[in-house]
Amino acid sequence: MAESSGDSGAAGHPPVLRVRGLTRSYGGRPAVQGLDLEVARGEVLGLLGPNGAGKTTTLRSIAGVLPLQGGSVEVAGCDLARSEVEAKRSLAWVPDDPRPFDALTVAEHLEFTAHLYGVEDHRERARVLLERFELAERTSALGSELSRGMRQKLAIAQAWLSNPAVVLLDEPLAGLDPRGIRGARTAIRELASEGTAVVLSSHQLDLVEAMADRLLVLSRGRVVFSGTLAELRAARAESSLEEVFLELTAEGDEA
Ligand code: ATP
Repeated sequence: MAESSGDSGAAGHPPVLRVRGLTRSYGGRPAVQGLDLEVARGEVLGLLGPNGAGKTTTLRSIAGVLPLQGGSVEVAGCDLARSEVEAKRSLAWVPDDPRPFDALTVAEHLEFTAHLYGVEDHRERARVLLERFELAERTSALGSELSRGMRQKLAIAQAWLSNPAVVLLDEPLAGLDPRGIRGARTAIRELASEGTAVVLSSHQLDLVEAMADRLLVLSRGRVVFSGTLAELRAARAESSLEEVFLELTAEGDEA
């Protein structure tokens, strides 16, 4: 991780995730309007915004789960619309409420991910991840038998296992117990230090403040701030991220 701003990303590296003019509506109602973002290798971008601001829509669009309506997404040099498989191979997405396959065990989910992404040394990596996320005792449990927090941990372990260039995390700590939170925070740091570009969407401002090199604040589907935390504070003459966030998004709160 490194402090950065502008187009060149962390430590001047070229962006590994590049989104241009992302636009998405539901039934004609705009949810995301003309969003641009870039994340470099080893950089953590914090995605903030009030409920309904468009964060999940943005992440689902980048992950290719929602078809692109407008704009472009490029992952590790591959255009999502033109080279979908290649783009998705370099990307992992952890949704806010992961739904594993009911009939596959924890171990089988990791096997499946390893085969899908062609991870060669997956057994040892999977073992370490299962230990880290306290799933080692539950390798035989079916997806349908996992608690919310366990589903979250499994989804994070699957994302890590695939060794992606870009990871999208939607409220990754929601539902985790204190040990799980500590493990996930450490894992996010390690992932970024190994060169993965991370987009971290969360309402937990302390998490974002601790992890993010740069921030993107959304309100009503539009970017209202993009830059470092220091730039954000300097521009607003406010001391805490919470105060700045509330001021920036005051008109964006949905009743
Ligand atoms: P939260 O912090 O509450 O998770 P968010 O920033 O992730 O919110 P989104 O879930 O992206 O926001 O929603 C953005 C807008 O799109 C909201 O107005 C929401 O009502 C709308 N929206 C999201 N999903 C759908 C859907 N499947 N159908 C219709 N409208 C949707």
